[in-house]
Amino acid sequence: MAGQQAQQTIHAGGEWRAALSGATRDIIDPADAQPFAVVAEGDEKDTDLAVAAARQAFDHGDWPRTPVAERAALLYRVADLLMRDRERLGLLESRDAGKTLEEGRIDIDCVADAFRYFAGLVAAESGGRVVDAGSPDIHSVVVHEPVGVCALITPWNYPLLQASWKIAPALAAGNTFVVKPSEITPLTTVALIELLVEAGLPAGVANIVTGPGASVGARLAEHPDVDLVSFTGGLVSGTKVAQAAAPSVKKVALELGGKNPNVVFADACATEEGFDTAVDQALNAAFIHSGQVCSAGGRLIVEESVRERFVAELAARASRIRLGRGTDDGVECGPLVSGQQRDKVEAYIASALAEGAVLRTGGKRPEGLGEGYFYEPTVLDACHREMKVVREEVFGPVLTVETFRTEDEAVFLANDTEYGLAGAVWTADAGRARRVAGRLRHGTVWINDFHPYLPQAEWGGFGKSGTGRELGPAGLAEYRESKHVYQNLAPKPVRWFAG
Ligand code: NAD
Repeated sequence: MAGQQAQQTIHAGGEWRAALSGATRDIIDPADAQPFAVVAEGDEKDTDLAVAAARQAFDHGDWPRTPVAERAALLYRVADLLMRDRERLGLLESRDAGKTLEEGRIDIDCVADAFRYFAGLVAAESGGRVVDAGSPDIHSVVVHEPVGVCALITPWNYPLLQASWKIAPALAAGNTFVVKPSEITPLTTVALIELLVEAGLPAGVANIVTGPGASVGARLAEHPDVDLVSFTGGLVSGTKVAQAAAPSVKKVALELGGKNPNVVFADACATEEGFDTAVDQALNAAFIHSGQVCSAGGRLIVEESVRERFVAELAARASRIRLGRGTDDGVECGPLVSGQQRDKVEAYIASALAEGAVLRTGGKRPEGLGEGYFYEPTVLDACHREMKVVREEVFGPVLTVETFRTEDEAVFLANDTEYGLAGAVWTADAGRARRVAGRLRHGTVWINDFHPYLPQAEWGGFGKSGTGRELGPAGLAEYRESKHVYQNLAPKPVRWFAG
């Protein structure tokens, strides 16, 4: 950490502090299971201080009333600072979250893109919508105002990227915030707060409390002085956040898990090039970042006639994925984020095998990689829709294979999930592509691709994948209240009451 002691990672009202209790937490490098940093372990009391600072800055500070052009200029400055520090931050993300250095760098590029996108979006606005009230004596306009104090709670798989999808629109709209990163990957979010300060954000606008979900996160969700909570994480914690937020009727946005189908029709594999592309992308869909991606394509639904060839090639390629520390040359995939996460993955594989799945590759810890939380990319064939591994989010390097014979069956299986975050369809038939895409109940549908997203396009889920949207114009609207201002330029008595 640049300007403060290592464990002073709580920022409230413009000051860096240690936890009031003095508690700290070791941050573990998942590639060797060794601690490499120390942060403050905040609790409810630290959270209350941070919320009070954000409340003060919102109610009495300049930021909510700062012209949008100035707010946008600050966000552009933040993007420039991110690019200046790209290598340092990319490395920190790689080490903390266990991703390859190149993925870490790409994450930082995407974070800067989010800041630029929301800066551009607000800068281009005309400032309200005039409504025709049907009379020249009435001036009626709908304006957008910041919601207030925002609590932003984020997960460990894309620590800074997920934070940026919340922080950039919250600031663009004129809010103040308290961010709580995942307790196991807080380092780049702390670093981002330092950059916001460097960019000139007034004290109290950006606050961070490092600490656990059960204390810091839960307090933020229930806090009466918080106006909005935006949460990205798992279904279980998300449900608790919604329940904690309900009594104070704050706005709630939830970006939760997924169980994402990757549907491959045989016609997509009719040429060698098509086959190679579909296999390669299925590999990427399932195993990038060891499958610890909310939109991971962990559920392959492939047409029966091409299944054997497809799965054989996929399993062969999965077995050749080079695992290792994310900063080592030639490494394609890092470890899982924690021992706990690896235990969870192993339990899912055990349950799948007990339910009749056939192991095509993986299914064990690799040898020769020391104490790190590595796990081999795993392909489970002969899966079916009732299996636990097919129904629940694994969040690890595990691909299940199901088959179909008809288009209706493919659509049925792809929609047969309580989630609805993302899904893909691979086909050479343009009509089928549009038909199937139209029937999928998922927030993002890829046709002949997997994983790309655009800052300009909304991201979010159907069903238990959450409520609300991030990115795009709707991702800004989450952080705003609409206000209708109706002005009568020639007021007269109503005379409804005669007396
Ligand atoms: P998690 O739910 O365990 O934790 C997420 C965050 O919530 C952490 O900061 C945690 O400390 C906090 N938290 C935990 N309990 C809480 C509580 N009771 N009250 C308030 N906060 C609490 O999730 P995770 O394991 O960090 O992340 C993985 C999950 O995130 C997966 O389910 C993944 O699909 C999801 N995710 C979704 C998206 C998306 O865009 N939909 C993106 C990334 C990750």
